[in-house]
Amino acid sequence: MNLMWFRNDLRVHDNLALTQAMSNGPCKAIFMSTSAQWEKHDVGAIKIAFIEAHINELSDSLAQLGVRLDVIETEDFNGQISTLSSYCQEHSINQIFANSEPELNEVNRDRKVQQGDISFNLYESDVIVAKGTVRALHGEMFKVFTPFKKAWLRQASVQQYVPYARPNAVEIPLLNQAPQPSFTNNQQAKDIVKKWPLASQVREQQLARFFEDKHDAYHDVRDFPAQKGTSGLSAYLAIGAISVNEVMAQLLQHSPLIFNDMKANAFAWLNELVWRDFYRHLQYHFPQLAKGECFQPRYQHLPWHNNQDNFDAWCTGNTGYPLVDAAMRQLNATGWMHNRLRMVVASFLTKHLLIDWHWGERYFMQQLIDGDYSANNGGWQWAASTGCDAQPYFRVFNPIRQSERFDPDGEFIRMYLPELENVPLKSLHFPHKYLNEQQLSGVYCKPLVDHKTARLRALAFYKDNVRQ
Ligand code: FAD
Repeated sequence: MNLMWFRNDLRVHDNLALTQAMSNGPCKAIFMSTSAQWEKHDVGAIKIAFIEAHINELSDSLAQLGVRLDVIETEDFNGQISTLSSYCQEHSINQIFANSEPELNEVNRDRKVQQGDISFNLYESDVIVAKGTVRALHGEMFKVFTPFKKAWLRQASVQQYVPYARPNAVEIPLLNQAPQPSFTNNQQAKDIVKKWPLASQVREQQLARFFEDKHDAYHDVRDFPAQKGTSGLSAYLAIGAISVNEVMAQLLQHSPLIFNDMKANAFAWLNELVWRDFYRHLQYHFPQLAKGECFQPRYQHLPWHNNQDNFDAWCTGNTGYPLVDAAMRQLNATGWMHNRLRMVVASFLTKHLLIDWHWGERYFMQQLIDGDYSANNGGWQWAASTGCDAQPYFRVFNPIRQSERFDPDGEFIRMYLPELENVPLKSLHFPHKYLNEQQLSGVYCKPLVDHKTARLRALAFYKDNVRQ
């Protein structure tokens, strides 16, 4: 009997390990939830509820293939190893099949399983180009994105993107699966997740619609949070409910010449998937990133101010900068935040408030439906200037200017800050400049810092403290 071990690949379509597991004989499937490990990794209730919804979908799809999915609660990764071992004994499992995960603890767990008695077949399916294969002249990982992208393209453009079909049923369909346990009691999180379609619907409808209606305009609209100009795929990619290989196959159907010109506007969307690969490749080459280290060690010991009240105000969307506050409230209300805003709020936390990027990274993980270690760590280190090919430390986003540029009509701000509903557009991007304290009292919070002063303070902070 074979065993398919589902982890971050909650799908039957284009699932390499599942196809292999079902190709030679009867197969069972297992998913092990790990509440303590999730807590340790700051996986938030919304993402857990999203996983739960997709486990139910997966379970139904597997039932149609005649494969039973057992969902077992385990404490942590060590618990997973012992549970796996007894499960294999109990069900006479000869071989285990799984798709690899790039993060350090996951890699170490899999190494231990590999040392066990049962053959463990591990496949890679979370990236477009295999990790470890995109290297610079002397075999090292690129430390700058653009040359990485050029080398990545040489490989990506000659690969085939043919999704594995849904495996054929090996047995007669199961009438019903074992009842699936609930991973979280957080009703608010479950309610938020209900607003997200299940992956099957996204694969079959939404993705095609994105390519037809939005892909070609992505370059021009992707930075405007009030417009729904991005794909909304991140949550599905983060739990592997949709495979990135299948996304590539659909992209190439829509734009067969996409690889020809990486400077073309049409490349803009694929460029983001290259960033996704880049951060995963970095994780592979520099596992210390998973231990919280700055990619550039000279930034490791910055004396962050870490004011708890300021942090709380940032988390709850009460900084006095409307775009920052609307963005944080979007995150808290929906579990998702637009990419432009992730950059703005991360810059604000680290540079305006001088709060350690690890605090923001952690808060994001706890709130995001698409929480993904590599992308989140990469994004935070980029914004804090501590990362690989990060923005230079002297680049400090002006939250008022960002607001004027990317939310020119104030549409996004008004969506999430009802208290500013009646503030005229001219004053909306920074009401404190135009309205006096009396007018704003009881309506909107005072700014935590003055932009110009905070910017100069940040420049001095980095200049004085970065080790040369
Ligand atoms: P689209 O614009 O449609 O992009 C397509 C896909 O490309 C996304 O689904 C995503 O998988 C990938 N992608 C897009 N932008 C990036 C990027 N900058 N880096 C890496 N991959 C990217 N993304 C996550 O998936 N999980 C995270 O935890 C996460 N944390 C972030 C934290 C910060 C501080 C920043 C600046 C960015 C973070 N991102 C993260 C990247 C990005 O913001 C989201 O992937 C994007 O907003 C998701 O929306 P979308 O699916 O509509 O993206």
